[in-house]
Amino acid sequence: MKTQDYINLEDKFGAHNYHPLDVVIERAEGVWVYDVEGNKYLDCLSAYSAVNQGHCHPRILETFIEQAKKLTLTSRAFRNDQLPLFYQKLSEISGYEMSLPVNSGTEAVETALKLVRKWAYQVKKIERHEAEIITVGNNFHGRSITVISFSTEPLYRDDFGPFTPGFINVPYGDIAAMEAAITPNTAAIMLEPIQGEAGVIVPPAGYLKAVAALCKKYNVLFMADEIQVGLGRTGKMFACQHENVRPDVVILGKALGGGFYPVAAVLADHAIMGLFQPGEHGSTFGGNPLAAAVARVSLQVLQDENLIENAYEMGEYFMDQLAEIPSPHVKEVRGKGLLIGVELHEKANGARRFCEALQSEGILCKETHENVIRFAPPLVIDKATIDWALERIRKVLLMA
Ligand SMILES: *Cc1c(COP(=O)(O)O)cnc(C)c1O
Repeated sequence: MKTQDYINLEDKFGAHNYHPLDVVIERAEGVWVYDVEGNKYLDCLSAYSAVNQGHCHPRILETFIEQAKKLTLTSRAFRNDQLPLFYQKLSEISGYEMSLPVNSGTEAVETALKLVRKWAYQVKKIERHEAEIITVGNNFHGRSITVISFSTEPLYRDDFGPFTPGFINVPYGDIAAMEAAITPNTAAIMLEPIQGEAGVIVPPAGYLKAVAALCKKYNVLFMADEIQVGLGRTGKMFACQHENVRPDVVILGKALGGGFYPVAAVLADHAIMGLFQPGEHGSTFGGNPLAAAVARVSLQVLQDENLIENAYEMGEYFMDQLAEIPSPHVKEVRGKGLLIGVELHEKANGARRFCEALQSEGILCKETHENVIRFAPPLVIDKATIDWALERIRKVLLMA
C-alpha cells in the first residue's frame, strides 16, 4: 500500500477529528521518522512532547519488552512490584511526597480537579459544592466535558455543552485580573507555566511567582499543568522551576510514558494527596506494572542522558538561529528550551503551507492555531542535526 491508500482507508473508516499532514509514518528512531515510501524526516513535534526521550529509545524498549513478558496488569485490587518503585522515582525527581498514576493527561487533570475540590471542603472548609477553580484564557488541559467547560476556544466547546460549573476564567498573564477573581470560595488556580497548544505562549516574567504569592496570600492551591512543558522540554525538569515556583499540585503526562505507553500522574505532598480515601477515585489501568516500569525508566533516561541540560543548550541555540532568519513572514520567535514557536504575520497566509513546505524538505512540524509553527524535536537532538534543519527552515521561511 502507498501513502494515498492509507489516507483513503483512514478517511473512510476513521472519525475526522484530526487534520494530519499527509505523511504515513511506519517506523522511527531517535529524532528521525520514516514514511511508507521510505522518506526520512526530522520529527519537530515529538508527538506534542510525548517522545522527549526520542523515538523507540533502546533502554525504554528493553524495559517495555521485559515487563510485558512478565506482568502487565493486576488492577489496583492487588499490589504489584513495579508501582512502588515508580512512586519512589517520581518523588525523587520532583520532590513531592506522593503521586497518583492514571492513563492520560486529561484523566490526570480531572483527578487533580477532584483532589483540590476535596481539599476545599475538607481543609479550607468551603461550603460543599461551592468551590471555584480559576483557569486562564487560551488554556489547554484536555478534551473531557469538564475540561472543555473552562476552555476559551469555541472549536473545543461550542457543540458540547452543557458544561461543568465551578470554573472562573481570567486572561493569562494578568495578575491583577487573577487577584480580582479570587473569592472566599476559591479552591485553586490552574494553569500551564507555558501554554503549548495556545501557540507557545510564555507568560510575562514574574507571573508564575506572582500567582504563587497570591495562592499563599489567599489560601488557594496552585495547580500547574506540566503535561506538555514538564519533564525537560523547556530546559528544566519542570517549567515552573524557571521562576523557582513549587506548585501545590503538579500534573504530568506525555513524556512520562517515554512515547511507548500512555502514563500520567498527579503529584502533591501528603497534606493534599493524603485526602483521597480508598474508593473515592480510581482507574483500572492506572499504575499498572507495565506503565510503572516504562515510566520509571523514561524518567531515568532523562537523567542519565542529561536531556534536560541538552534541551536548554540546544534550545537556546535553535531559537537564536531561528530569530536570525531575515524572513518577512516572521512576527516573533519565542519559547523556552526545545519548545519554540515561530509566529507568522497574518499576511503570511497561515502556518499550514509552511508546515507542508517543511515536510517536502524532510522536517515534520505542525501548525498551532492559524499562524504559529511549533518546533519541538525530541530532547536527544544534537547541534549538527539542528544545523541540518536550520538550512531547510531558512529556505522555507524565505519563500514567497
Ligand atoms: C496534551 C495535554 C493535555 C491532555 O493530555 P492527553 O494525554 O491528550 O489527555 C493536557 N494538558 C496539556 C497542557 C497538554 O499539552
